[in-house]
Amino acid sequence: MTNPTEPTHRINPPEPYGFETLAIRTGHRRTQEREHGEPIFTTSSFVFDSAAQAAARFSGDEIGNIYARFTNPTTQNFEQRLAAMEGGESCIATASGMSAIMAICVGLLKSGDHIVSSRSVFGTTTVLFERYLSKFGIETTFVNLTDIESWKAAIQSNTRLFFLETPSNPLTEVADIQLLADLAHNNNSWLVVDNCFCTPALQKPLTFGADLIVHSATKYLDGQGRIVGGAVVGNKQLVGEDLFAVVRTTGPTMSPFNAWNALKGLETLSLRMKAHSEQAMILAQYLSHHPNIERVFYTGLSSHPQHELAKQQQSDFGGIVSFVVKGGREKAWNVIDQTNLLSITANLGDVKTTITHPATTTHGRLSVEQKELTGISDGLIRVAVGLESIDDIIVDLSRGLD
Ligand SMILES: *Cc1c(COP(=O)(O)O)cnc(C)c1O
Repeated sequence: MTNPTEPTHRINPPEPYGFETLAIRTGHRRTQEREHGEPIFTTSSFVFDSAAQAAARFSGDEIGNIYARFTNPTTQNFEQRLAAMEGGESCIATASGMSAIMAICVGLLKSGDHIVSSRSVFGTTTVLFERYLSKFGIETTFVNLTDIESWKAAIQSNTRLFFLETPSNPLTEVADIQLLADLAHNNNSWLVVDNCFCTPALQKPLTFGADLIVHSATKYLDGQGRIVGGAVVGNKQLVGEDLFAVVRTTGPTMSPFNAWNALKGLETLSLRMKAHSEQAMILAQYLSHHPNIERVFYTGLSSHPQHELAKQQQSDFGGIVSFVVKGGREKAWNVIDQTNLLSITANLGDVKTTITHPATTTHGRLSVEQKELTGISDGLIRVAVGLESIDDIIVDLSRGLD
């Protein structure tokens, strides 16, 4: 099956343009109306000149639009732009981050295959692997993200997929992508990296040997909390052919409206990620000197155990800061409840700062034992630092802390 989303725009495949140029310019094929801004194509199907053309489009002999479950110019514009930004050959957009992960599993795995996954991944990803993939005979072993020996020990003859997020949520542990990519490839497996926290503005896992990048476009790619969306980036065969066919057939398509929002988000991604990182660094430093805080998790602090590795893989440290308040759950809830400005919500990657108590929300389904294994303590708070004035964010947090 041919993928009609192959790049045709004059600057894609990328000339040696810079990241910000690609983010702003890639993928818009101007129509005869000569519009400057990227249009939203709100149409479910496309019209053919003749029966012969329809047949050629369906057979794949002619590239072009057919039906918006798998061909829509706005969605393709987003896909081409994100592919260029990640340095990948192809991208497929999906209805959500979760459907991006599901498309990978449906497309690349079969009954009897095995996944090795970091234990520190998005909670719903764990549920997908444990509860649903297991129904179809795909088993998962969860390992410690930063312990290469535990990855090695988990490998089986039927292992096909390694899955991780780096930095992890909410404890900001950093994986050595190159090391794990090599291990995966030596064991007949693909490495999938969920690049949600850094985005390509700060980290390009493909350059370290990862095979597939997953995104929840819901987070920083859109960046303003407006949509739910996802994407997978990788090479032409895996993504442009195999996963394109999965999404075409199973239907978790990104809507053109959501694609347009994410597309416009990409234009300011670099600027926003720099600003999120700058603000998060100020907050992390403030918190690390606060007497009522036990520990701060932020890859930008030199006290972070993997600060050096983060510096090698990332161009900056991102917007997520987690910290443990002395006094456990009661004190942590008090800090959260005393905020007026911050949003008490589990989302992240928004210009609005959000605050979360992982142990009773995002990680509330974990058993006491699993919480201990993953380090989700009762005093832990996660802040996704937004772009409001940093002084206001600090004042809001210090009310409950002081
Ligand atoms: C939110 C999130 C997802 C899931 O994305 P949805 O768009 O909510 O489906 C996957 N991975 C990470 C790291 C996330 O933060």
